[in-house]
Amino acid sequence: MTAVPQTVKYENSEAFAQTMDRDDPLSEYRSKFAFPKRDNGEPYLYFAGNSLGLMPKIARDYVNAEFDDWAAFGVEGHLGARKPWLPYHENLTEMSARLVGAKPAEVVVMNSLTVNLHLMMVSFYRPSKTKFKIFIEANSFPSDQYAVQSQAKFHGFDPDIAVGEFKPRAGEITLRTEDILETIAREGESLALIVLGDVNYLTGQAFDIQAIVKAARKVNCLVGLNLAHGAGNLLLQLHDWDVDFAVWCSYKYLNAGPGGIAGTFVHERHSNEFDLPRFAGWWGHNKKTRFEMPSKFDPLAGAEGWQLSNPPILQLAALRASMEIFDQATMPALRKKGDLLTGYLEYLLTEMSGISIITPGDPKARGNQLSLKIKNNPKALLEALKSQGVICDFREPDIIRVAPAPLYNNFYDVYRFHQVVAKHVR
Ligand SMILES: *Cc1c(COP(=O)(O)O)cnc(C)c1O
Repeated sequence: MTAVPQTVKYENSEAFAQTMDRDDPLSEYRSKFAFPKRDNGEPYLYFAGNSLGLMPKIARDYVNAEFDDWAAFGVEGHLGARKPWLPYHENLTEMSARLVGAKPAEVVVMNSLTVNLHLMMVSFYRPSKTKFKIFIEANSFPSDQYAVQSQAKFHGFDPDIAVGEFKPRAGEITLRTEDILETIAREGESLALIVLGDVNYLTGQAFDIQAIVKAARKVNCLVGLNLAHGAGNLLLQLHDWDVDFAVWCSYKYLNAGPGGIAGTFVHERHSNEFDLPRFAGWWGHNKKTRFEMPSKFDPLAGAEGWQLSNPPILQLAALRASMEIFDQATMPALRKKGDLLTGYLEYLLTEMSGISIITPGDPKARGNQLSLKIKNNPKALLEALKSQGVICDFREPDIIRVAPAPLYNNFYDVYRFHQVVAKHVR
């Protein structure tokens, strides 16, 4: 018998929220995370997993295991540790590939996000006199803007001319796919690269990547994604979508801890393009001859060939703890719960005239985040939330971002969030 697809009929009641939690197949995961506590010992209602994910309790053991092996083995730990350090990053490869819909050879964990974005642009932003434009989405994260502007400048272009934005229509905040496609066609062969934050950090909008890649191909333009807010949030199929490269950090939805080690995807089609310019380091060199210390760089095939340094094992250990949880829970199940949780939050807030939700209403065009435009005195609301045990995040001048993370948030959290907000906003 096939299950009858059911649309949940939401209700603004404690009993409803608790029934949803009781029937939630992922409910066991909540207890695997450490919640910050208020002075009175109560855990905060935590909705900032899009900014810094909570600590998986097991992460401490994984990191301590590396301290123990460092103490026990010293330099011999590179080969002798229980999980040898030399190939440690490979422990993350298959899980990362499943997370973003890639082949294992297409992904690697290394560095931090903005560093990886630059490394990718060194190889995949190859401007010429006539083909030199980089397009990003309006309201993109400042670090991404600085990165693309500095790349244009590095190649001798005026960033004001070389960097363009996909813009919303007058009076709108999010982008329409048809407008993005139209801009790509209009810019045509002048476009060298598109870099999109998926989802956009401010509005929470997810883009139709397949349609965008298809349009970009028609004008021979490459497409890179910044998945800072997408990895561990959206259902991604980077290989099938034919994206050229992607980068992500792991301290947001991926719960790998502050400054956690980041990820990179390079499409298989570029695996063996050894003539591409790239910034090289010994960790990207052929593993067979790396320790013979040859003077000529022989890059590894695939994403690993973009590595520079031997990676931070303590950070990798923390990331491994979290990635194992994602691998058990699986992204399809997490996305399903995320849609229900975010839908519930939307349902509860829609009635309030003091709040407008700027994130798209279509579940396919968003992940776990709703961005709320607060009409009156947004900072007062933020302070009130904090004093009543709610942690979420504020962006100037008037946006509160709320992210129910399906690994550790539940329906009762969302219900209680609304209860607190309703005391302050009509
Ligand atoms: C969080 C975030 C960053 C942060 O970059 P780091 O290099 O990790 O400091 C960059 N871009 C986007 C879109 C982000 O959301």
